Amino acid sequence: MNKTLEQHRKDIVEIGRRVYRLGFVAAYDGNISVRLPDGNVLATPTAISKGYMSEEDLVVVDAEGNKLEDERKASSEIAMHLLIYQLRPDIHAVVHAHPPCATGYAAAGVPLTKALISEVVLSLGCIPLAKYGTPGTPELAEAIKPYIPHYDALLMANHGVVAYGADIYQAHGKMETVEHFARISLTTRILGKETLLSSEDVDKLLVARERYGIKTPLKITEACPRVSDAGSEPTITLTKSQLVDIIQSALAELQIKRH
Ligand SMILES: [Zn+2]
Repeated sequence: MNKTLEQHRKDIVEIGRRVYRLGFVAAYDGNISVRLPDGNVLATPTAISKGYMSEEDLVVVDAEGNKLEDERKASSEIAMHLLIYQLRPDIHAVVHAHPPCATGYAAAGVPLTKALISEVVLSLGCIPLAKYGTPGTPELAEAIKPYIPHYDALLMANHGVVAYGADIYQAHGKMETVEHFARISLTTRILGKETLLSSEDVDKLLVARERYGIKTPLKITEACPRVSDAGSEPTITLTKSQLVDIIQSALAELQIKRH
């Protein structure tokens, strides 16, 4: 049942084509890797279009990211992949891309955490937004670290999306789900109305998650997945001058009381 190294190479080339064809990457964007049975990692190299790779372009690194064979240099984001493998023994493939709609959410600083679509709650729980870290540096890995144990797909602020799974097809499927959900979320925003699922609905989906064998221990918070009957106060938007006015009038009132 175990795939050979050659089969894993074919899989990565195939997923690279799919990611490219869907417009999830431009130019040399994105990277893909698979954890091999011996603990080494097969990864896409740096500076290559994911749509035009061949099997010999891929590189093998050890669990610390040292190059073992092949001619090209591993992706600059290999540290992010290695961290995910280190923290999640159940994960054997990572896909990183910049799908435009979900990356738009990441650039706007808006997480995809609302309980809007049952299937998304079931499969991913929610998709939180990790803070910004410079690509290709340990900063990026640090930014996503707290989320890795609890979620299978993340938005990375001002950057893109990372998704991971038990195999490369599952990891890619999650990437597709994130972008698809981002488009649906955007549609509800355009329509001006979002009807969230209730906490009772979400609880039922979380039970079903176990039935489907999804084992990622979701960290459920009031913000993730966000339900219709959450106890939190509704949020309001103020301009800077409106906020200054409120503070100034509160201070003025305080001074009147003191005198
Ligand atoms: Zn990237």
